[in-house]
Amino acid sequence: MAYELYFVKNILNWYSENRRIFPWRYTFDPFKVFISEIMLQRTRAENVIEPYKKMLNNFKSVADIEKVNQNELTRILNTLGLKYRVKRLKNISESFCENYSCNIPNNQNDLLNTSGIGQYICNAILCFGYGMKYPIFDTNVLRIFERFFGVKSMTKSPHKDKKMWDFAEKLLPEENYVDYNYSLLDFAAKVCKARNPCCKECPLNYYCKYPDKYVNSTKT
Ligand code: SF4
Repeated sequence: MAYELYFVKNILNWYSENRRIFPWRYTFDPFKVFISEIMLQRTRAENVIEPYKKMLNNFKSVADIEKVNQNELTRILNTLGLKYRVKRLKNISESFCENYSCNIPNNQNDLLNTSGIGQYICNAILCFGYGMKYPIFDTNVLRIFERFFGVKSMTKSPHKDKKMWDFAEKLLPEENYVDYNYSLLDFAAKVCKARNPCCKECPLNYYCKYPDKYVNSTKT
């Protein structure tokens, strides 16, 4: 357990001085978290800032998105590309309106029963939107787990692997779990990058199991 505590403590310390600031963070507003998470899929966070602001200027709730013409939604989101997102936003909003009176559910069961919502977005809504203690991991966070802990999902779809979700859940601190979840995203983007991770300066490097941690390391 000391190993896990070392990981959590050091990554939180790092985050306290290196966090990225985005307008959708620390809003604790499920609607804002929902639209930002759909927009962030496969997209650099920096590119989402302007379209996110436009979305908030035009829509205040899933009921607004449910009513809007799909072409109008496409126009607002066109700088992001990936048209499937427009359809996904629209379809999920329609489901929320049809099944939950245009409210965003605050439990895993209802969220995961909504087509288009996977485990990551479900947990992001619960943690970042409702302040509840749920783990998150995407491909980038998984990379940190794999390198630091030497764990590996044995399935073809690690993001659906219950063992990996259980693993992520066990790491969650009792307090500061919102900060901790954001810290994982930022650490993956700035330090434990896919290519040329900054291992030499990494606050986790002493106990990290990544075999190449001192090879091809770059500075932050
Ligand atoms: S030492 Fe390198 S591989 Fe290990 S966590 Fe830090 S950046 Fe990632």
